[in-house]
Amino acid sequence: MSIDPVCKKEVDEKNAPGGKVRYWGEVFHFCSEECRKAFRRQPHEYAPEIAEGRGPGYDKARTSETWRT
Ligand SMILES: [Zn+2]
Repeated sequence: MSIDPVCKKEVDEKNAPGGKVRYWGEVFHFCSEECRKAFRRQPHEYAPEIAEGRGPGYDKARTSETWRT
């Protein structure tokens, strides 16, 4: 299980209903599309320890998303 960084619910990473987002090399799984969208808007809010010292927030070039693969 993995923890949805937005709502802190447990999410099955093999079947995450909200898909997943790779952010600075870390993969986050989401319980819903809403949580995924919230994370995309402000990833540094939900993963401050990861974003720290690594430039401004969400960087498309360094972030990849998998949605319902
Ligand atoms: Zn959630």
